Amino acid sequence: MVDSYSVIKAMREYADRENVPIMQEDGINYLVKYISKNKITKVLEIGTAIGYSTILMALANENVEITSIERDEKRYLEAVKNVKKAGLEKRISLIYNDAIDVVLKDKFDLIFIDAAKAQNIRFFEKFEKNLNSEGTIITDNLSFHGLVEKKEEEIPSRNLRALIKKIKNYITFLKTNKNFETVFLDVGDGLAVSRRKK
Ligand code: SAH
Ligand code: MG
Repeated sequence: MVDSYSVIKAMREYADRENVPIMQEDGINYLVKYISKNKITKVLEIGTAIGYSTILMALANENVEITSIERDEKRYLEAVKNVKKAGLEKRISLIYNDAIDVVLKDKFDLIFIDAAKAQNIRFFEKFEKNLNSEGTIITDNLSFHGLVEKKEEEIPSRNLRALIKKIKNYITFLKTNKNFETVFLDVGDGLAVSRRKK
């Protein structure tokens, strides 16, 4: 087993080189603190990429167990390698599939959504069944590099405008969700922290 932090450093370099959109430093720090502060042990992640956020969440405390889903084969294989290097195979289960087609029976304390941004509502509605009664769903990239806050005409392409519209719809979905209370944080690329109402 290699020292975890050298694995993480190498992952950051790989992500930089290969343009893998891993979490921003503030965002992942928030997530790690959230896990340790709330003594979270079961995490589901949608969007593993190369396992960067997965491994850091697993290191938040030694009881954390993570299931993480990735549909891109190259990234999934890279994540498998990284998890092994970090010696975390026992606590991290990686699933290679489209999250929309994955059916899980387990219940989780935290669900972290960080996959295709246009599909956030689908992921949320599909996996809220897998959330413990006191659980939290955290979603990344609600700001999408600051574009969500921009005027429509300032967004350079039509595809991007369509994507930003979907992220805005997701924000409205969260704000009007009767079962969850959401706090929006200007941390990293914008996080939404949604807790089930009692
Ligand atoms: N959480 C990672 C970054 C994830 S990037 C980190 O911070 O380190 C988003 C990833 O989600 C991409 O690798 C993409 O392939 C994956 N993805 C997008 N849509 C998906 C889907 N429907 N099912 C599974 N993975 C998906
Ligand atoms: Mg992200």
